[in-house]
Amino acid sequence: MGLPYTSLLAIELLQQTKGERESVSIAHAGPAAKAGTVLDIAYVIDESVRGDFLDINATDGVSSQLLRDDGSIHNFGLAAAATNCSTGTNAVLRFGGTRAEYQRFINTRPSIWQYAQASGYWTVYIDAQGSDGALQNLMDEDELLAVDEVIHLDDVAINERDARIAELIADMTNNNRAEFILANKIGAHFPVNDKYPDAYSRYLPALPRKVFSEASDPNPNPDLYTEDKSAFGDWERYANSYRNTLLWTVGHFFETLLGGVDLERAFIVYTSDHGQDFHEDGSSGFGLHCGERPSPNEGLVPLTIITRAPAWRDTAAHWSARNYNQSSHYNIFATLLRVMGYEESEVSKVYGRSLLEPTDDPMTFNALFTARFGAEPIWVKVDLR
Ligand SMILES: [Zn+2]
Repeated sequence: MGLPYTSLLAIELLQQTKGERESVSIAHAGPAAKAGTVLDIAYVIDESVRGDFLDINATDGVSSQLLRDDGSIHNFGLAAAATNCSTGTNAVLRFGGTRAEYQRFINTRPSIWQYAQASGYWTVYIDAQGSDGALQNLMDEDELLAVDEVIHLDDVAINERDARIAELIADMTNNNRAEFILANKIGAHFPVNDKYPDAYSRYLPALPRKVFSEASDPNPNPDLYTEDKSAFGDWERYANSYRNTLLWTVGHFFETLLGGVDLERAFIVYTSDHGQDFHEDGSSGFGLHCGERPSPNEGLVPLTIITRAPAWRDTAAHWSARNYNQSSHYNIFATLLRVMGYEESEVSKVYGRSLLEPTDDPMTFNALFTARFGAEPIWVKVDLR
């Protein structure tokens, strides 16, 4: 698809401050990926999955398959996204942008791939959304220099792609090589009429089926469809189709992943790029996310660490309880660097607090990532209710 307007603005903004990309300078505490202690890190970024729609965060939530008591699920509860739009959030997540300096970090600081490579990981990018090798979310050819393997899933049906990601990650935890894998899932972006198989039509009444061709862009801009209201009906139907979609793209995804992954060797971080606004407040319009005056729900995302790796399970269990409902995307980069073996104190100095220390996070997301040069971001606090 063509880049949405907000992405073009973001690119324009970022090019104004583009500089030389730095290399990794933070000290390493020791070889994280040495033989015998192979640890695979998977950074799973879902699409448009609102945190309070999953059963791990709400009693009436959709089954995520993550409610299990085998000591592997470390749920940080509801968290704040970096922004309420895919582009900005993904860039912040890959470059460790902080609230104070996200632009400079995205433009000049090392990427997560560079840190992973420098600590001995084979780096893998799985993009389920793009097609024909097109890069998105401000990724460019320079960034790919630090990616050892790029996997696009053009030849997999859209509704099978998330499960395919689960299989790929599971396989990579069983191959005796330390990988860092970042995956952008299909998730639950508009339209959600047909993003699940018939057998997953559990929440009814739902939107009419077979409205959008599966072969088309998995993530079209909602603005393109405002002419045809019949395609998305009312909010009750939309929310039910969304729940059916989560049952498949989150529940079936984790069922597949946890069925094959070696959790002794895997450290998985799961979140979504942003939440969704279902206009529960009665407001008009069809904006689901990327709003300029967003509902707090546009920034409400899940945040979970999944691991039984001996070096991390107790730490993750402890801090997921301590930081429950008190964290954000701005705590993830430092977490990953620490797991890769970088010195904790040096990481915190540059990137702020990880999830594995008291986060005490303000839980705000940036509603003006694409602000013109000189404009201030707008920080919106998520509403946990
Ligand atoms: Zn998105």
